[in-house]
Amino acid sequence: MVYYSGETIFGLFFVLQMNLPKRARFYQRGDNMRTRITLACTECKNRNYDTKKDKKTHPDRMETKKYCRFCRKHTLHKETK
Ligand SMILES: [Zn+2]
Repeated sequence: MVYYSGETIFGLFFVLQMNLPKRARFYQRGDNMRTRITLACTECKNRNYDTKKDKKTHPDRMETKKYCRFCRKHTLHKETK
C-alpha cells in the first residue's frame, strides 16, 4: 500500500509551481526571436531607423525603401549592426 503523506503532495505542488515561471519564460523567449536592427540609408550612410525583425522570416540582411530625412527622399535602407 502506497501512502502519500501531506508533505509529498505539498512537494509535488511545489514542484509544479516551480515549473510554471520557467515555462512562461520559454514562451517569452519565442517572442524574443525578434532582434533589434538598425537601418541605414545606402546613399548618405546615416542610420535613420531602429527597428526589429524576426530572424526566422528574415535570416538575411533586410533592405527596405524608407524616407531619409538627410536625402529628403525615399532611399534604400540596409540593415546594419
Ligand atoms: Zn540618406
